[in-house]
Amino acid sequence: MHESLPLSRSTQVGSIQIHGIEAGVQQLDGGAMFGVVPKPLWERRIPPDPRNRIPLALRCLLIEAPNALVLVDTGIGNKHSAKFADIYGVANTGDPTRLEDGIRHAGFDPEDIDIVLNTHLHFDHAGGNTVSDELGQVRPSFPNARYVVQKGELDFAHSQNERIRASYLLENFEPITTAELWEVVEGPSEVTEGVEVVPTPGHTPHHQSVLIRSDGDTACFLADVCPTSAHLPLPWIMGYDLEPLVTLESKRMLWHQAREENWLLVFEHDPRVPWGRFDPTQDRPVLLED
Ligand SMILES: [Zn+2]
Repeated sequence: MHESLPLSRSTQVGSIQIHGIEAGVQQLDGGAMFGVVPKPLWERRIPPDPRNRIPLALRCLLIEAPNALVLVDTGIGNKHSAKFADIYGVANTGDPTRLEDGIRHAGFDPEDIDIVLNTHLHFDHAGGNTVSDELGQVRPSFPNARYVVQKGELDFAHSQNERIRASYLLENFEPITTAELWEVVEGPSEVTEGVEVVPTPGHTPHHQSVLIRSDGDTACFLADVCPTSAHLPLPWIMGYDLEPLVTLESKRMLWHQAREENWLLVFEHDPRVPWGRFDPTQDRPVLLED
């Protein structure tokens, strides 16, 4: 499916250029992706394959902020086994992965990235933080970048209990610690001019979303608080979420502000729609079709 997605596509937020980078696809269980929503409802939005899996984008965001080139999330990377790739339907081949191909397609090199921003440290968001080289050595993928994450998320990722450890793979974040490239933030923070992080807990306790603000316009990279445009209704919450009722309140808060300020909403996992704004004529959260 990812062959049908462009390597990158761009739009403008005020005077800031942003690029959606298609770092490949994965396929996750449709039931887990839609939590308590019955299959007859969700399968109309995203049809499952014979293994009940639905295709999901691994869309990262490259932000040309005035003082820094910022990459939000890093896809799955290249350190996984063939068995892992089969279970999760991972397709992200490139040089070394489709993420780097997409960055080059947008006109930059991986070495140009000044800041890597992780919304959280699950393998499909932080897997490309590190890369396995020709010798099998795992090293940071973006050596000139500082890596930004919530302090609570980094601590939580290390806690490794039975419910969460399949999602938090040490090889995605330990080498960043060893290389002393982390810059931890706590709560809402401006990362660089025009780029802020805002806590949107629920999927994980310290999950964050990213706001890009310029000249009165705002875009929000939602990440897993709302992974696809099919998850826009408040109760359409993933079964993966550790605290679904907290997700509910994070979404309620975001949708209120998004409506007030006509935000551009960016979807990390939507297999079709990279971004859109709410239709102001509708009471329900539905997107204006471009
Ligand atoms: Zn995810």
